[in-house]
Amino acid sequence: MKKIYLAIFLALAAISVGFAVVQQDLSKVELATAKVAGTVYMVHGTDDANAFSGGNIAVSVGDDGVLMVDSKMAPVTDKIKAAIQELGGEAPKYILNTHAHGDHVGGNSAFSKDGTVISHTNVRKRVMGDNPEDAWPILTFENAISIHMNGEEIHALHAPNGHTDGDAIVYFKGSNVIHMGDHHFSGLLPFVDLDSGGSVQGYMANIKKALDEMPDDVKLIPGHGPLSTKADLQTNYRMLQETTSLVRQKMKAGTSLEDIKSEGLQDEWKSWSWSFISTEKWIETIYKSYSDEMTNK
Ligand SMILES: [Zn+2]
Repeated sequence: MKKIYLAIFLALAAISVGFAVVQQDLSKVELATAKVAGTVYMVHGTDDANAFSGGNIAVSVGDDGVLMVDSKMAPVTDKIKAAIQELGGEAPKYILNTHAHGDHVGGNSAFSKDGTVISHTNVRKRVMGDNPEDAWPILTFENAISIHMNGEEIHALHAPNGHTDGDAIVYFKGSNVIHMGDHHFSGLLPFVDLDSGGSVQGYMANIKKALDEMPDDVKLIPGHGPLSTKADLQTNYRMLQETTSLVRQKMKAGTSLEDIKSEGLQDEWKSWSWSFISTEKWIETIYKSYSDEMTNK
C-alpha cells in the first residue's frame, strides 16, 4: 500500500511542477473499465501504485452518445479513447470536469475537437491559467447544470469552497451513481487545496450535504481509489469530524501547531496517512483552515 501512496505523491508533486516530469512516468499506465450501474462505467488505472493515471473517470454510454466526467492527464488520452471504444462508445460529446487540478483536466485537449467541455465558472478560470486554449471549458455553470441523455438526467452540482472553489459533484440520477470528484479520497487523508479556494469547513459541509441527499444504495466513484458505497463516505466523514474536532480542541486550549503535530491523530486514522497527505500535513491543513476562519471574522 505504501507504494501506491508514494506513486500518487510523486505524480501529484510532478503535476505541481509541470507535465514534463509526469510524462516520463506515464508510459507504463494501463487503464481498465468497470461497470458501475445503469449506463455508467468507471475508467481507472490498473496499477496506480506504480503508474499513476490521474483521477477516476465516469463514462455514460448509450443511444445518445458518450459523456465523460474528468479526463485524467494528456499522456493517457489514447488509452482513455481505447477504453471508451471497448465499451461500445464513440468520441465523447460532453466532457464534464469536477475541478481544475491537472490530474482531472489534463486530457481535455484531446477530446475538445469532438466534444464540449463543461465545468463550474471557477474551473474555467483556473484551467485558463494553466492550459492551452483547447483545454478550456466552453460551457460553464454557477450552481448546477443538467445534461439529459442516455435516458437519464446527469446533474452536476457546485460544491463550494471544499476541495477547491469550483468542484462539482455529478449525480447520474437514473443509474444511481455519483462521481464525487476529490470530495472522496477513499481511505486516505484528503487533499484540501486552501490555495485554490478550498477549506476544510466547506469540504465537510459539502460531503454532509451529499450524504444527506444521496440514496442509501447509490454507487460512488471517488476522485481517487476504488469504487465506494455510501457507508465508505460515511466513514470518511466521521474521520473528518473526529480529526478536526481534536485539532480544534487543542487550538482552543492554546496548544502550538508543532505540539499538535507531534501528538498526532487518533489511532483509528493513523493508517489513512500517506506520502502526499501525511498526518502532519492534514493537521496543518485543519489548523490553517480554522485559523483563517478566525482571522476573517
Ligand atoms: Zn484534486
